Amino acid sequence: MAFGKYKEVMALKAKDAKVTGVAQDGGVVTTVLCYALEQGIIDGALLAAKSETPWLPKPVVATTKEQIIAAAGTKYTISPNMSAIKSAAREYALDKIAIVGTPCQIYAARKMQLYPFGARHIADKIALTVGIFCTENFSYAGLKTVIEDHCKVPIESVRKMEIGKGKFSIKGAKDVAIPIKETHKYEQDGCHVCSDLTAE
Ligand SMILES: Cc1cc2nc3c(=O)[nH]c(=O)nc-3n(C[C@H](O)[C@H](O)[C@H](O)COP(=O)(O)OP(=O)(O)OC[C@H]3O[C@@H](n4cnc5c(N)ncnc54)[C@H](O)[C@@H]3O)c2cc1C
Ligand code: SF4
Repeated sequence: MAFGKYKEVMALKAKDAKVTGVAQDGGVVTTVLCYALEQGIIDGALLAAKSETPWLPKPVVATTKEQIIAAAGTKYTISPNMSAIKSAAREYALDKIAIVGTPCQIYAARKMQLYPFGARHIADKIALTVGIFCTENFSYAGLKTVIEDHCKVPIESVRKMEIGKGKFSIKGAKDVAIPIKETHKYEQDGCHVCSDLTAE
């Protein structure tokens, strides 16, 4: 796999049980954000939080460690985290904003920094970007179809979803894994021409 330009590659795992209990993988994203908040590197972060609808994320401005931990875990559908940036800068009056996003979202943040059209006094508040690896994403309707029609479980009974080793897997009331190729037709069209899988 092409990682793009990098200084160092490390595989890490968080130690805090509060983080490892809810994080998707090693909990590195959540731990880095909590550290950055504690150290004053950031004063808030744009994240994909849980909403009232099972597995439909909502972009949030998290300003406490508790809110950052509560937003951990991957939601395999679109969460337009960047849409919360104006609110973070203007309503929350944050000066040092972190953004967690898929590579296409980090691309949007970089474009905003480069050419802050309509984003004056906002783009300059971006203090940290954390790009998560991403090879595909689904519309919410597509995700629901994968879970309810292909995995044959109600979406509200799912505790965790994962993609890896050629499978789409869910854990919850029932553990199910289906071949990833069954899910391809539910991916966003744009993902099929995406050229940045690592937020390089
Ligand atoms: C749609 C999607 C596809 C992915 N595909 C791959 C892949 O093919 N291979 C791979 O190695 N990794 C993939 N990942 C990344 C992986 O799932 C983990 O996010 C990553 O390994 C970090 O793990 P962690 O335990 O450090 O994250 P955590 O500490 O659990 O933090 C995850 C962070 O991501 C944010 N987040 C969750 N869902 C979304 C979303 N939909 N949009 C934007 N932000 C979100 C959360 O708010 C949280 O801050 C994908 C992530 C997403 C969202
Ligand atoms: S595959 Fe590319 S376009 Fe699709 S969600 Fe991930 S980063 Fe965005």
